Amino acid sequence: MLVEEAIGEIIAPHGGRLVNLFVTEDERDGLGEKAAALPTIELTSRNLADLECLATGVYSPLEGFLGESDYRSVVEEMRLASGLPWTVPITLSVGEDHAQKLSLGQEVALTWRGQILATMEVHSLYRPDKQLEAERVYATTDPAHPGVAALMNGGPVYVGGPIRLLQAVPHDKFHNYRLTPAETRAEFVRRGWKTVVAFQTRNPIHRAHEYLQKVALEMVDGLFINPLVGTTKSDDVPAEVRVHTYEVILERYYPKNRVLLGVFPAAMRYAGPREAILHAIARKNYGATHFIVGRDHAGVGDYYGTYDAQKIFDSFNPEELGITPLKFEHAFYCKACGQMATSKTCPHGGEDHVHLSGTKVREMLRKGELPPPEFTRPEVAAILIDAFRGINDKETA
Ligand code: ADP
Repeated sequence: MLVEEAIGEIIAPHGGRLVNLFVTEDERDGLGEKAAALPTIELTSRNLADLECLATGVYSPLEGFLGESDYRSVVEEMRLASGLPWTVPITLSVGEDHAQKLSLGQEVALTWRGQILATMEVHSLYRPDKQLEAERVYATTDPAHPGVAALMNGGPVYVGGPIRLLQAVPHDKFHNYRLTPAETRAEFVRRGWKTVVAFQTRNPIHRAHEYLQKVALEMVDGLFINPLVGTTKSDDVPAEVRVHTYEVILERYYPKNRVLLGVFPAAMRYAGPREAILHAIARKNYGATHFIVGRDHAGVGDYYGTYDAQKIFDSFNPEELGITPLKFEHAFYCKACGQMATSKTCPHGGEDHVHLSGTKVREMLRKGELPPPEFTRPEVAAILIDAFRGINDKETA
């Protein structure tokens, strides 16, 4: 079978069609000149990540930042106005003064560091109820929540409308791992993978991650490791360090022909359950058939119950999501079992389990101490110790 034919057989993108917002070569010249004369909206790094996800189809079927009716429906019903499941509003906010200068129907240029990347037709200009958005999407209005803080920091007016990308979003990192959904879909077909499990992460790989990934991989053809590299909160480990831990571990402990590593450009929202659905839909768009959801997926602090991000999948019909969640309980190393396990597979008590909090691990790494190999592989610990040494040096310089 031809690759093109086989691509048609792979899991359908959300809404049925993979979105591609890039202008053609022919269109570019004319549009580029026109765009130079348009009023501009300068993007934040979060908007930039969303623009990339929109343009490459990671957020299919969205074709731009949300207009008011879709926004309200997403916040209140967890669905687009069309009824299609969508749980986290993808929005572009501007300040009051800026909003005064914009009008419906007008075209604007979206810029990053002054450079025009895209044009957008202003179809909707509206004032969101941010308290309601925070309550519904983040389940809290606490400004200490990093997602709520980012929401409240944005301007009071949202601008929605369709986008055309004139130029790819520029990057200085991870060139080898920047795969678009069209590329991952083609690669899965080339490898003959009919079932693919995707893994979202914003952390360096540890043994529990590896366990989840490998248990899942026992049941499907391929594993798509898709670390998030957009904006994260400041105390998360930097993306280049995290991706490096993956490179080293994949080289030593994973079968090459069963794993694909590609970065996920989105910013982290820490919206727990609602973000788990967004993460799953995005991975369906990349061509994955299954998605790992473990404990406290996309959570932060104590805002969400340990398994809320799994329970939310029950709010939708499996067919309307299309991608199948693989739900995992909290995984740990059990000394009595002599292996990784969860409470579903291990009869022993807490005294036999190797549990370390993130804070404890960070404290050890800062001191240059290796966490136990049952928690983190020594190759990963070495990378993290180096990284923490760099951070300490900067802090004391
Ligand atoms: P995120 O914040 O997006 O959940 P993480 O890197 O913390 O990213 O986790 C990646 C995935 O692994 C998530 O699905 C999470 O629920 C799962 N996970 C992480 N640690 C464990 C663990 N010890 N047991 C079970 N699942 C886990």
